[in-house]
Amino acid sequence: MRRRDWLLSTAAVPVAVQAQPASPKNIVISSANGTKACEKAMSVLQAGGDTLEAVVQGVTLVEDDPNDTSVGYGGLPNEEGIVELDASVMHGPTRRAGSVASVRNIKNVARLAKMVMENTDHVMLVGEGATRFARAWGIPEINMLTERARMAWMAWKQSLRDREGNNNWTDGLDGLDAPTPKQAATLRQIWPEASDEMIAWAFDVARFPTTGTINCLALNAKGEMSGTTTTSGLAWKIPGRVGDSPIIGAGVYVDQEVGAAGSTGRGEENIRVVGAHTIVENMRHGMDPKAACHDVLQRIVRNYNGDQKKLNRFDINFYALRKDGAHAGASLWSGRPRRGGYMASFQYSVNDGSGPSRLEKCSWLLERKA
Ligand code: ASP
Repeated sequence: MRRRDWLLSTAAVPVAVQAQPASPKNIVISSANGTKACEKAMSVLQAGGDTLEAVVQGVTLVEDDPNDTSVGYGGLPNEEGIVELDASVMHGPTRRAGSVASVRNIKNVARLAKMVMENTDHVMLVGEGATRFARAWGIPEINMLTERARMAWMAWKQSLRDREGNNNWTDGLDGLDAPTPKQAATLRQIWPEASDEMIAWAFDVARFPTTGTINCLALNAKGEMSGTTTTSGLAWKIPGRVGDSPIIGAGVYVDQEVGAAGSTGRGEENIRVVGAHTIVENMRHGMDPKAACHDVLQRIVRNYNGDQKKLNRFDINFYALRKDGAHAGASLWSGRPRRGGYMASFQYSVNDGSGPSRLEKCSWLLERKA
C-alpha cells in the first residue's frame, strides 16, 4: 500500500465504525464461569443501572463463590499459600479506569478497583497500599484461603521434586508420580472428611493448575459500555506476581465509541500483545469481533514463531463486545484435555436479557490433539 493510500484508509476508520448498525441493546458477555454473573449484570441494566455497576455486581457473585478456585474467595494461592488478587474496571461513559493488584485479605477486588477509579486521582494501587486503601474505606479483611485451596496447595508442595526425587515436604523417598498412596494418606490425615474425588482434584490441580478468572463486559440500550476482570491469578505464582487482569489494555479495555474486550488465561502472553486494547483498536479499524480476537491470537503465535510445542503449554481466551452488540469469544486452542480423557471446548457466556445466560462456543486458532 502506498503511503497516501494508507493515510486515506486510516482517515476512513471512524466512518467504518459509524457505518455499523446503531441499535444498541442490553447485552452482557463473560468468560464461561460467568453465567450467573451475566444474569446479575443484566438485571442491573434492566433496572436502569450503570454498566460498570452491573458488571461489578455480576462478578462479585463469582468472587464470593468458594468453589471457583480462580477468582476471589477460594482462589488458589501463591507459592507461599497466600491468596493474592488482581482486578480492573473500565467505565465507557466517563472513560475512567481503576485497578488493584496483588491484594491480600480483601474479597471483592473488582469493587475495590471501582473505588480506586471513583475515589482517588490514581488508576492503580498494589499490594499493601491497596489493602490499606480498602481498610481506610472500612472494607473488612478476611482470610481468603479456603480449606479446599489449602489442600490443593499442599498437594502441589508435595508434588515438587528435585532430580533425586527429594522433597522436604515429604519423606523424600516417594516416586516422582503424584499422588502416591502415601501422599494421599498424608492429605487424608489433615482432611479426614475429604472424599477420594476431592483428593484426586487437589493433586490434579497441583500438577496442572487451572486457569480461570472472570472477564465481564456490558452494553446498555443507551449504547454505554463497561468492563471488568477479576482473578486470583496464576496458581503457585511467586508472591507479588501481577498478571494481565489488572493491566488496563491487557485484561480489560473499553472505548465508548467502539467496543470492549477482555481476556482470561495465561496473563504473561496477553501482556506482551496488550490484547484487550489491540482487539478494540482492531474493531475501530473495521474488523468484526471474531477477526479482532484472532488477530491478537496470531500475534501470540508469532511471539513463539509458531512453535506449537511451546504454545501447547498454555491456554488463552479473548472476549469482544462491539458497540452495536456483536460479540465473540476466541481461544488459542480448540479445547483442553480434562480428567477422564475428553477434550473440553472453550465457551463464553452471553445474556441478551431474554432469559438465562447461554454458553456459546469460542472460535479457535489451533487444533489441539488429545
Ligand atoms: N489471566 C490470569 C492471570 O494471568 C489467569 C487466568 O485467567 O487464568 O493472572
